[in-house]
Amino acid sequence: MMFHKGKNEKDVVCGMTVDANTAISEEHGGRTFYFCSNDCKKQFDAHPDKYAHESSGHSHKGGCC
Ligand SMILES: [Zn+2]
Repeated sequence: MMFHKGKNEKDVVCGMTVDANTAISEEHGGRTFYFCSNDCKKQFDAHPDKYAHESSGHSHKGGCC
C-alpha cells in the first residue's frame, strides 16, 4: 500500500483542510498560505494580518491568555 504524497495545509480563511499540491497558495510575511478557492484568497488579501495571526499556532479561542 502506497502513501499519498499529498501534504495537508489549513485554509486559514474558512478553516478547511486543503492539499498543498492543488490548493491556491500565496506567500505573506515569509510564510506560505493555502486556500481552497479564489474567494478565500481574496479575503486573505483583504485582511492578511488578521488571518496570518490566526494561523500562528497560538489560539485565543478560550480567552485564557
Ligand atoms: Zn477556503
